Amino acid sequence: MTRPAVFLDRDGVLTELVPDPSTGTFESPLHPEDVALVPGVAAAAGQLARAGYLLVGVTNQPAAAKRTVPLAVVEAVQARVVALLAADGVVLDSWRICLHHPEGTDPELGRACDCRKPAPGLLLDAARDLDIDLASSWMIGDTDSDVQAGKAAGCRTFLIEVARSAHKRTALVTPDRRAPDLAQAVTVLLSGGADC
Ligand SMILES: [Mg+2]
Ligand SMILES: [Zn+2]
Repeated sequence: MTRPAVFLDRDGVLTELVPDPSTGTFESPLHPEDVALVPGVAAAAGQLARAGYLLVGVTNQPAAAKRTVPLAVVEAVQARVVALLAADGVVLDSWRICLHHPEGTDPELGRACDCRKPAPGLLLDAARDLDIDLASSWMIGDTDSDVQAGKAAGCRTFLIEVARSAHKRTALVTPDRRAPDLAQAVTVLLSGGADC
């Protein structure tokens, strides 16, 4: 039997984006001490789980591919996200992480792949492993690539319009729904308001 899932982007949806001194924009946290959960996300994720959705984190983390930080640091950041969620009572059913980047200089990770969003590989692999019904599932993310990956996988899409990632959104993609944060997206989704 297949189940619906909610695919959750990590940075900007579950965790706060942090200023990148080299670009002046807000980006993914690159050090464990910079990781902070967006207020309310654990409660929201818990509501989804109790409503019967599998929870799958899907995230691009190319910093090691670009040799911005070592892979061990990328892994430590991810471990911190998992720990903070667990401290708030939430354990996702699976995490799917793309470590690649097509222009990365790391000999192993610096390459094109099928899993870096906007490609749907992370979602498709999870769907196969966890018997997920993609047509009744949602992708929730804060950038165009999240919406594109969700659509390519055959999911419905929820765009979280956080101010700090506005530079990663354009009018070129059309999500099924929009919300200012995960908590409000989950309220709409569980009220049935997203199905009409
Ligand atoms: Mg994001
Ligand atoms: Zn990849």
